[in-house]
Amino acid sequence: MSKKIVVLGAGTGGTIISNNLRRHLPEDWEITVIDRDDQHIYQPGMLFVAFDIQKPGRLVKSRRKYIMPGINFVIDEIVRVDPDKKEVTTLNHKFSYDFLVISTGCRIAPEENDGLLDAWGKNAFTFYTIPDAELLRNKLKEFDGGKVVLNIAELPFKCPVAPIEFIFMADWYFKQKGIRNKVEIELVTPLQGAFTKPKASAVFTASAKEKNIRITPAFELSSVNGKGKYIESVKGDKVKYDLLVSIPTTLGDKMISDSGIDDGIGYVPTHQNTLKALKHEGVYVIGDATNVPTSKAGSVAHYEADVVVFNIMAEIHGVKPEEIFDGHSTCFIVYSKGTSSVIDFNYKIEPLPGQFPMPKLGPFSLLKETKMNWYGKLGFEWLYWNVLLAGRHLGAPPTLVMAGKEVG
Ligand SMILES: Cc1cc2nc3c(=O)[nH]c(=O)nc-3n(C[C@H](O)[C@H](O)[C@H](O)COP(=O)(O)OP(=O)(O)OC[C@H]3O[C@@H](n4cnc5c(N)ncnc54)[C@H](O)[C@@H]3O)c2cc1C
Repeated sequence: MSKKIVVLGAGTGGTIISNNLRRHLPEDWEITVIDRDDQHIYQPGMLFVAFDIQKPGRLVKSRRKYIMPGINFVIDEIVRVDPDKKEVTTLNHKFSYDFLVISTGCRIAPEENDGLLDAWGKNAFTFYTIPDAELLRNKLKEFDGGKVVLNIAELPFKCPVAPIEFIFMADWYFKQKGIRNKVEIELVTPLQGAFTKPKASAVFTASAKEKNIRITPAFELSSVNGKGKYIESVKGDKVKYDLLVSIPTTLGDKMISDSGIDDGIGYVPTHQNTLKALKHEGVYVIGDATNVPTSKAGSVAHYEADVVVFNIMAEIHGVKPEEIFDGHSTCFIVYSKGTSSVIDFNYKIEPLPGQFPMPKLGPFSLLKETKMNWYGKLGFEWLYWNVLLAGRHLGAPPTLVMAGKEVG
């Protein structure tokens, strides 16, 4: 009898792991991957759509095209997971499994933020979906002066560097338009600084200061008042805006909560080193769907996929899963159309300066704004579609490499 692996979600993590598993497992292992549609979106490009330097059509490709032959790709809405019966229910089918990989990502939920939907599309926008990024692009085009506020509603949220990229890109954009002197830019965040890790936070804060961008930390959003054009914190502090760019409350997929396997906000409690679901046998979790304390980023999903393939194969061979994953995350931080920084870190080691990925040679410079890093960011899109989604890697381990990093 064939053995079955079911993968939930064919986004970044689900596509990578399905292909990676297909390469490693013999044919009597049946691999099924399920997603609600056939549209794979390159999500980092949505920031560029907002600033009108990328066309939205280029970001969307057929999922099927990136899923290897020998994998069953099913388009259907997943409605329930039953880990006791080892069964997944979709609108039209039921699937049993020996191993399950959950990679259903996360979603913005602006309805969770008091007052936000009243202002939505009027003076409050986001760039976390393609239609929203297009609306923001149109608004930015007609904006002729005033205060732009980027607000993160609450933690956790997807892509922790995206807000920093947005404020730096906004500085560049309004300079290009020749109206920077008429625009105030402010980042209002629940974090204690610009970023979660102190060294990187200090570097980003210094760059923001140079660009005359204000950062307001420790702001826990209570409500948005679109008519009065301000946001208010739970302590009663108010920040005025003319244009609000919001990263609303972010939740895991509803199906995870409906199945009763979540942590209260839609994420699956996951062992931070094995990536196995804490409460269920035969279930692994990767990407934004986990509750592990690292970035919700595509690079993380890619590193995690290698670890989960290793652990599923270990279990098939009767060996206990290994505690390999170290929270490794790598992110480009775009400063302008033409320059970028890059960071590489894990649960314990914060982003450090140095050369990446090769010591001395780079060609990328960590925690530094360079032209070469920008070319890296552009090249990454090609790498994503042509190498990473296929579940291939570049010879590097999934864990953080210290070579090239400057400690101390
Ligand atoms: C604006 C923006 C910029 C970003 N920039 C970067 C960056 O520069 N670098 C970086 O590394 N990361 C970046 N990211 C984050 C990155 O895109 C995500 O972290 C990554 O895609 C997570 O992969 P995933 O597989 O967990 O989720 P996703 O890729 O979102 O895939 C989840 C899939 O599950 C499917 N699904 C969910 N629920 C169901 C259901 N009930 N039924 C059927 N299908 C379902 C969805 O349709 C989706 O295809 C950015 C994200 C955004 C929004």
